[in-house]
Parts: sequence; C-alpha cells; structure tokens
Amino acid sequence: MVEFTGEHRTWQAAAREFAEREIRPISLERDQITDPAATFDWEIIKKGSRLGFRTAAVPTEWGGGGLDFVGQALVMAELARGDAAITKTFSQCWKWSHLIAAACTADQRRRFLEPFLNDDTYLLGKGGTELHAGSDNRMPPDDPDAGWMMSAERDGDEWILNGRKHYIANGSVGTLFFIDTRTDPSVRLSEGTTLFLVPSDSPGFRVGTVYDKVGWRFYQNAELIFEDCRVPHANVVGEVNRGVAARAGDTSEFGDLELAAIAVGVCDAAMEMALAHARGRRQGGKQIVEHQAIQLKLSEMHTLTEALRAFTFRTAAEADAGDARNNVALMNFATDTVQRVTHLNMDIHGALGVMRDQGVEKLVRDAAIWTHLAGDSVQRLKAVRNLL
Ligand SMILES: Cc1cc2nc3c(=O)[nH]c(=O)nc-3n(C[C@H](O)[C@H](O)[C@H](O)COP(=O)(O)OP(=O)(O)OC[C@H]3O[C@@H](n4cnc5c(N)ncnc54)[C@H](O)[C@@H]3O)c2cc1C
Repeated sequence: MVEFTGEHRTWQAAAREFAEREIRPISLERDQITDPAATFDWEIIKKGSRLGFRTAAVPTEWGGGGLDFVGQALVMAELARGDAAITKTFSQCWKWSHLIAAACTADQRRRFLEPFLNDDTYLLGKGGTELHAGSDNRMPPDDPDAGWMMSAERDGDEWILNGRKHYIANGSVGTLFFIDTRTDPSVRLSEGTTLFLVPSDSPGFRVGTVYDKVGWRFYQNAELIFEDCRVPHANVVGEVNRGVAARAGDTSEFGDLELAAIAVGVCDAAMEMALAHARGRRQGGKQIVEHQAIQLKLSEMHTLTEALRAFTFRTAAEADAGDARNNVALMNFATDTVQRVTHLNMDIHGALGVMRDQGVEKLVRDAAIWTHLAGDSVQRLKAVRNLL
C-alpha cells in the first residue's frame, strides 16, 4: 500500500483542478484541428507552467518542484484525465530536465537549467530515432550497423552535426534538445555515440515535417534537420563516445512510469464517461446500466483501471526506493489496459461512440499511441530481459 504525503495530495489537488478547469474545456477542440502544427496552444502551457507542472521534476536544490516518482505519477494521472497529449507535453520536460540536473556540468546547468526554470515557454525534447534507427536504439543488438547514425565531427572548439531525427516529441516547439549522434561508427551503440545539448537557435538546425498522428494530437512530433549544425564542445553531455553512459543518471525508467500514469488518467476519463452514459441512456425499457451486459463491461473497465493504478503506484514507490525492475512490464500492461478500457467505453456508447463530437473515440485514438511507445514487441521482450 503506497502512502501519499500531504505534499503529494497538494500537488494532486492542483493537478485535478487544472485538468478540470483548463485542460478539459480545450481538449477535444484542439484534437480536432486538422493541421497538426496548429493543435498546440501556448496559453495552456504557460498557465500549467506557472503552477509548476513544467518544472515539477527538477530537484528542489536546483529550483524545481522536486516531486518524487509517486508524486509525478499522481500529477500525471490527474492531468491526463483532462488530456493525455497536453500532459505529455509537460512530462516530456520532466525526463529531460532531470537529465540536465543529473548528468550535466555546472556550466551546462547554468546555461540550460536556469533559463528552463525561468521561462514558461521553454520546452525540452530528445532526438534518438532516425529513418533507419527505431527499435534498435531501445534494445540494441551487438552490431555496429545498428542504432542512430547521425554524424558529429569535431572542428576545433565546435562540433558539426549532420542528419535527421524523426518523430521527436516537442520537436516543433522545443527550445533545447538532447541529440544522440554516432561519433564512432566502427563500434556498437554503447561505445560510439555522443550526446549533445542542441538549442533550437543553433546555426544549421531547423524543424522539418510536423507529423500528423491519429491520437495525442496536441503533442507535437516533428522531424529535426541538422545541416552543418554547429554546437560548442561545451555542449557535449558526459564524455565523447560515451553518450549512452551519459544517460546513466537519467530517468529513462521514468518514461515507463510516465506512460502508465497517463494511461491511468485516460482510463479514469473513460470510466467516468461510460458510467455517465450508462446511467443516462435508456434502451429495452430501462437505463442501459441496468442491463447485465453493460454491467459486465463496466466491471471489466473498473477492474482493469484499478489494477493499473495499483501497479503504477507500487512501481512508482519501488522506483523511489531505487528499484526499477518492473517499469517495462508496467508499461506493457498500461498499453493493453488503456486500449481495452477505451474500447469498452466506445462500445457502451453505441453509435455515439464513433461520433467525433463526443470525445469517446478520441480516447481510443489516444490509446492507440501506447503501442508505438510503450507496448510493442520490443518493449515486451525488454520486460522479460529484466527478469533474466
Ligand atoms: C508519439 C511518439 C512520440 C515519439 N517521441 C520520440 C522522441 O521524443 N524521441 C525519439 O527519439 N523518438 C521518438 N519516437 C519514436 C519511437 O521511439 C520509435 O517509433 C520507436 O522506437 C519504434 O521505432 P520505429 O517506429 O522505427 O519502429 P521499428 O523499429 O521499425 O519497428 C517496427 C515493428 O517491428 C518490431 N521490432 C523491431 N525490432 C524488433 C526486434 N529486434 N525484435 C522484435 N520485434 C522488433 C517493433 O516492435 C515494431 O512492432 C516517438 C514515436 C511516437 C509514435
């Protein structure tokens, strides 16, 4: 049983109110904007940032909210009841701001963490994926030909970066990106890559395609293009050719927890919708909630949602205690759960379930994204490897 502190409860209440008052009213409207680059809304980001949601995971000694994993999961689940994609825009910053705090030099923290903390529009991202390097970055085979290949060549006190990154979260709105490059293509990923901090105003950097996703539409995913992009040597994170090791102090396990906590919020939203509809809709001479077939669906939704919540908070508490063993399994379970629960909600809504003005099918489209981040075959294999 996970114990929540008074501080956790304060954050949770603030997140609930923000989701209810600010996120929910704009969620569907933003989702339905056709142009993927126009779904984004700076106002909601600024408002959430002023409440501390953008900087919540930065340790207090560096001036952030200092939320532990249990607190982060609580906040994300509440925000995601309003909208998963808006939540993810904030929590994407949590991972990488934590990495700045954990792995960067004092000079880098001064140049990047301080402005991040002081600017409500300063968003973070990380670019690893390339056209021919997706799953191989996550579970690299022992092969020099696998993994990201974007080049970085040293030129005096600078490095020259060339290549493209795909599907990068916060790509078109980010101020600063962690970028994975291949600085020694003759060896495997863990030995021949260098991680750079690349501000979006670096010469030779530009944003390409903004991707048009079926779900999480508010969340900006973009192509990042580097054409003789120059960054100072002082922006190398950790050591040259040790880019993977530089992330050792990061919160990659948080990424798994994050997706599970957001799934809890989406399941809560689906449950709420399903109950309201089942109580309000009459068919067969009674409210449909009185039909056993509907009760069975509600029962399954409730059981799965509560199981996911329990697993998520147990895993968050374990992660706070330094044990991240179950994180990937949690993420896989979150994928299956969020997809099943949102489908059952759609089913309970009958025809309304597929009408675009209801927000029911939006949850199904949002849930589809989990497979491509959290629960594909590679992530399932990783969960087993954690046991071996
Ligand atoms: C919403 C969203 C946000 C994203 N954000 C970022 C980001 O911020 N930064 C970033 O760098 N990337 C990001 N990505 C990219 C994401 O990390 C990749 O899409 C993911 O790694 C999968 O790579 P891929 O799309 O190339 O699929 P592929 O690697 O081509 O995989 C295709 C299929 O083959 C399976 N497969 C591949 N290799 C194996 C194997 N060895 N064994 C078994 N099955 C295998 C996969 O499971 C999958 O089912 C994002 C993607 C999405 C959808």
